[in-house]
Amino acid sequence: MAYTEIAVERRGAVAWLFHDRPEMRNAESSVLLDELDAALREAAADDEVRVIVIGGRGDHFSAGHDLKEGQEKRQGFSVEQRYAYEERRYLEYSLRIWDCPKPTIACVQGACIAGGFMVANMCDMIVASEDAFFADPVCKTLAASAVEVLMHPFVMGLRAAKEFLFTGRRMGAEEALRLGMVNRVVKRPELEAATQKLAEDIASAPPFAIKLTKRSLNRAADMQGFRDAINAHFDTHQLAHVTEEFRRTREAGLAAAIARGKAQTAV
Ligand code: ZN
Repeated sequence: MAYTEIAVERRGAVAWLFHDRPEMRNAESSVLLDELDAALREAAADDEVRVIVIGGRGDHFSAGHDLKEGQEKRQGFSVEQRYAYEERRYLEYSLRIWDCPKPTIACVQGACIAGGFMVANMCDMIVASEDAFFADPVCKTLAASAVEVLMHPFVMGLRAAKEFLFTGRRMGAEEALRLGMVNRVVKRPELEAATQKLAEDIASAPPFAIKLTKRSLNRAADMQGFRDAINAHFDTHQLAHVTEEFRRTREAGLAAAIARGKAQTAV
């Protein structure tokens, strides 16, 4: 399949799927997310592929959902239409990454914000470069309740997640490493090689044992409430989309964001 907004490369037993809109800081349009989901399924079904890496071309992993596209195409959506759109592209696609039977690694440099943060954190592991930074400013700046998939308490701990979401601040790679959200931090020029090395190490393990181990680890998370919490938050997030607070904040914020030419960043 030919893709227009992602790039796919095979490096040995490792499939690399890149966000490929560097001029837009890899903003996730509906096309990009559809392509990423299709490429993930393709890689999962390919017997030659042992590990899947999700990355981003250019200076950033992804600055989040393509807000400009959202403004143009989905501004007039009903509650039902928004629910269907977000359920498919954000909740289902995210959980497909989480549930992928093969190990997944996010390879993160530069901005990893909101929707980008969501995709990266669905991966089993994250390798980040020193310049990587993470943020979910959706509560603070848009008055919605975080991004659609609230994996935050599971990947960074409850206290850190509260501060991160209540302030909307950026978290650097070293802090993310300290909190255990990121597996390792390397210098920017070494990022892809370090990620490939980790992937090859995993690719050399017996694949069925790896698959079973991942299932068990994910089930442990489910027993701690992961899936129920994720599904509950998705509905809460939909409620936040129809509040007066959201409408007022979004209108003011979006106008300012568009004026700054940075409309691609956020919810
Ligand atoms: Zn949303």
